[in-house]
Amino acid sequence: MRVLLVEDEVRLAENLAAALRDGPGFAVDWAEDGQMGDDCACNRCYDLIVLDLMLPKLDGLSVLKRLRGRQDSAPVLILTAKDGADSIIELLNAGADDYLAKPFDLGELIARAKALIRRGKGTADPTLVVGGLEMNTLEQIVRREGVLIDLSPTEYHILEYLMHRPRVIVSKRELLEHLYDYNWEHHSNVIEAHVSNLRKKLDGALPEPAPVIETMRGRGYRLAPELPQEQAEDATQDQAQNEDQ
Ligand code: CA
Repeated sequence: MRVLLVEDEVRLAENLAAALRDGPGFAVDWAEDGQMGDDCACNRCYDLIVLDLMLPKLDGLSVLKRLRGRQDSAPVLILTAKDGADSIIELLNAGADDYLAKPFDLGELIARAKALIRRGKGTADPTLVVGGLEMNTLEQIVRREGVLIDLSPTEYHILEYLMHRPRVIVSKRELLEHLYDYNWEHHSNVIEAHVSNLRKKLDGALPEPAPVIETMRGRGYRLAPELPQEQAEDATQDQAQNEDQ
């Protein structure tokens, strides 16, 4: 999952970025003022935006209004020093999804961030189920047909991304963008190696497994061809709607 953090206080931003990377393993882009935050949000699709209100160049409320004005529905968690009821109502009306008043507990930030990302993907339940695969996103545990599968953090995050989009084709570029920070150098063969290991582990869990991750030549990967027909139809409809937009 890729998070945009818009926060001008350097020490706080560093602590937040470290917490978001280390705990749930998000990729974090940091913008140190509102204008940079707006530019980043224009250029990329984020799974979550953590937005401070008092920012140089462009304040957080304006960043939020511009975002929603572009019909960008990325979940937004506001960090606010203000706690007046009026400003909270204004923020929620402007399209904020949640807020935290400073000072806040990092654990609470992480919990709210995860909940917003789940809701943003249309799943409030922390357990993802696709076909015979089950992922508990709170404990970061994966099972296939009940068999526990031990994954590296990167393998886990690739699978998590795919499980949020069953039967949708996900390109290597999209995986790279959602797994790694913008200032890291990564190539698509890194993704190939991780997917290859992930596939071996998922298929190694069962004596005669149907492959769960399909490679779509030149296009990317797709999860769960073994998906029950009903779920598959829902996902195909969702994808058709997304492509129409
Ligand atoms: Ca600030």
